[in-house]
Amino acid sequence: MPLKIYNTLTRKKEIFKPLKKRRVGLYTCGPTVYWYQHIGNLRTYIFADILKRTLEFNNYKVKQIMNVTDVGHLTSDADEGEDKMEKAAAKEGKKAKDIANYYLKIFKQDFKKLNISEPDVWCKATEHIKEQIELVKILEKKGFTYKTSDGIYFDTSKLKDYGKLAKLNIKGLQEGKRVKVGEKKNKTDFALWKFSEKLGVRQQEWDSPWGVGFPGWHIECSAMSSKYLGKQFDIHTGGIDHIPIHHTNEIAQSESAFRKKPWVKYWMHGAFLTNKKGDKISKSKGGLYTISELEKEKFEPLIYRYFCLTTHYRKQLIFSLENLETAKNSYSRLKNLISEIKDCGKINKKYLKEFEKAMNGDLNTPNALQVLWKLVRDKKAEGKIKTIEKMDEVFGLKLLEKEKVEVPVEIKKLVEERNSARKNKDWKKADEIREKINKLGYILEDTKEGSEVKKK
Ligand code: AMP
Ligand code: ZN
Repeated sequence: MPLKIYNTLTRKKEIFKPLKKRRVGLYTCGPTVYWYQHIGNLRTYIFADILKRTLEFNNYKVKQIMNVTDVGHLTSDADEGEDKMEKAAAKEGKKAKDIANYYLKIFKQDFKKLNISEPDVWCKATEHIKEQIELVKILEKKGFTYKTSDGIYFDTSKLKDYGKLAKLNIKGLQEGKRVKVGEKKNKTDFALWKFSEKLGVRQQEWDSPWGVGFPGWHIECSAMSSKYLGKQFDIHTGGIDHIPIHHTNEIAQSESAFRKKPWVKYWMHGAFLTNKKGDKISKSKGGLYTISELEKEKFEPLIYRYFCLTTHYRKQLIFSLENLETAKNSYSRLKNLISEIKDCGKINKKYLKEFEKAMNGDLNTPNALQVLWKLVRDKKAEGKIKTIEKMDEVFGLKLLEKEKVEVPVEIKKLVEERNSARKNKDWKKADEIREKINKLGYILEDTKEGSEVKKK
């Protein structure tokens, strides 16, 4: 069954065909490390992880690159405002580099907690300044750039197909009344290199052929992807908010510099995590949690992963603690049911095929989870454990890992009481205590190693 994925570039589900046989180059737009990544951001990385695991399930060898934006991302997408890193450094009274390292460390910890596999290469924008300058030089040579008082800009009017990814109405955009063009020739033109306003004020600035400054936000992704994946590669991922500006501009500069069309064959975008009103989770609209904050609310990170998989990646997902509670109950029921399976048969081909059909149909995780539930509940199915193991290579939910149950002191005391009753051969009392434990929501099992308590 061929793998089909939805390509934003064509707005169609397409059969995936890599540029090189059995090898896939995958670039995932990474975090801007000026603050914690919230659960909305992390939804997008869970989606990219599911994509990577599905490719591997289809026997492709994947090389995944993730950038780390530690300079140049301004507070406004219109190349205005402050550099997010510089702003955070000033606010926290720290070095921009330390801020970047701190939030990247937390981000990597969140990856571990959510069982997201790490990319093959993490690349920081500040460690690739030379490559970015080289790329701007190529664009300059080819006549795509111009200079203003604050930087070097890309002239989007030079491209006939600018905005094709977002299907932008360029004429409409240019005529828009609220458009602030300033010295830019066209509203959609964007900065490749920005000059420092005053020398020595910014923490992060570099010399360049055009003057001291720093790279624009979009150029890092073109420069670093070509360094690690070549001038043309298979799949690029990110959140849908990247379609009209960031990814549109990445395409403009890469296709102009590398003369490869399409520069990236498949563009894939994850939909937003929203609040109940349908607003994107954000600092200003609320609903903004980090993984550590969810843990404080007694939600293990993998519950959030399960929650994300219950909705298709191209559909909005409404977040609330109640919705997460529902996912928590399902996930723990699922794991408990699985822990009771005793079976050592070979993979159940019928169920695995159904699972493959769901995943290869544009990563339909909700359908794939239904297949899993059906398998778990099927009294006659064989090879359950091996099949679940295989499915979990894609889900990444640690379905076969035994849960560490936090047993309350009250229950622990009852277990001890029961143990001494058993020692005294008072079976009636032992049974009564077991019944009591059961009523309190726990199951007690006697094993060779002693008695084990599980949550119901
Ligand atoms: P940033 O650090 O702002 O560059 O964002 C990192 C990633 O998270 C990008 O791919 C964004 O598209 C994505 N993102 C931002 N907000 C949300 C959200 N509410 N839901 C899902 N993805 C998001
Ligand atoms: Zn990017």
